Amino acid sequence: MEMTDYIYFDNAATTALDPLVKDAMTPFMTFNYANASGTYHDASLARSAINKARAQAAALIGAEPDEIIFTSCGTESDNLALYGTAMAHFSRDKRFNAVSDTIEHPAVYNTLDALKKAGFIKLARVSPDKDGFITPGAVEEAVRSQVKTKRDDASGQTKDNGIISVMSANNEIGSINDIAGIGSVAAEYGYLLHTDAVQSFGHVLLDVDVMGVDMLSASAHKLGGPKGIGLLYLRRGTKIVPTMYGGGQEHGLRSGTENVAGIVGFGEACRLAGIRMSADTRYIHELRDRLVSRILNEIPDTILTGPQLPDMGDKRLPGHCSFAFKGVQGSSLVIGLDIRNICASTGAACSAAANRPSRVLKEIGVAADHFNGSLRLTLSRNNTIEEVDRTVDAVKACVTQLREMFGDD
Ligand code: PLP
Repeated sequence: MEMTDYIYFDNAATTALDPLVKDAMTPFMTFNYANASGTYHDASLARSAINKARAQAAALIGAEPDEIIFTSCGTESDNLALYGTAMAHFSRDKRFNAVSDTIEHPAVYNTLDALKKAGFIKLARVSPDKDGFITPGAVEEAVRSQVKTKRDDASGQTKDNGIISVMSANNEIGSINDIAGIGSVAAEYGYLLHTDAVQSFGHVLLDVDVMGVDMLSASAHKLGGPKGIGLLYLRRGTKIVPTMYGGGQEHGLRSGTENVAGIVGFGEACRLAGIRMSADTRYIHELRDRLVSRILNEIPDTILTGPQLPDMGDKRLPGHCSFAFKGVQGSSLVIGLDIRNICASTGAACSAAANRPSRVLKEIGVAADHFNGSLRLTLSRNNTIEEVDRTVDAVKACVTQLREMFGDD
């Protein structure tokens, strides 16, 4: 893709590789191709580079380096967290309790379905409120349907009653959940807490102790890093078993020769995110607010799905804009924008590919006449105000054209 000709507004699907990340990775894709498990000089350089990246990733979320497990992607991290703890806690006479919600990414949603089907877990799912938040109150109610009483102080540290898995931020509607509030519920009832932070990691401040999470999943390609590398933050002492076996890399939890270049790139992306986050957020908020207000003001019968602006601006991912247009097919809109060299999506990249209706929009109660008209525009530090204006004009033209072609009146 010639990025000079294109406007790229699909940063929730993936981001461009940052040039500094590419520079950090290049030596490990060219002259130093050593296996980090080797005993010669270049291998020890590769091992040191992995250790540095582990420390960079840990620093971004207030963790210790030995609590970071590198995996191949966010999906694998979610699977390891959920399968690994369910298998570690399951016994023949007792399934492990699990509480999650109805708007998780398929990497969590489908994994929990599979664990339930295989008989490993007893699953309760909570619904979001109309803005797309999973509230601590709703999670507590679901936990209480599984265990009736809170843990007393003496056993408060033991987290063997079950697992809660609630995403840090939603990929389709940008809602940022109160994970710290859910963390209090997890601690009170002796549940482990996992959060899928693939969308928020590197974009909003996350601290594993403040949130009280035991596990957190992230993926490099959502923050200017390469594809094919993810991580699982795993709190020390968490009871878990590996889901794949082999040479015992990554503390025995993720066997397989390390993707040194990918890990180094992820580390550099974390370092850059830590330095740039507040300035980038201010800049991206400016673009986002202009884009949202122009679209809502200039295109009738349009809603912003998820948290509303300006009131809930901080509870929405910085560059995330998602709309629903009455009487328009989102997929036609995306094609119309593509013809005008603008990359956008109807929602999640994976459900768009399968052309399935959005589970998330249904769950937050988007009206039937708006339901098929979803459009997600997700911005990054690489975008400009001129691109915002060109895109709004293009969306306006496409929506008008589609309504003229297919409208009832
Ligand atoms: N979880 C969420 C919330 C996501 O948005 C995504 C990707 O879009 C994933 C998990 C999967 O991450 P990966 O593409 O690294 O497997």
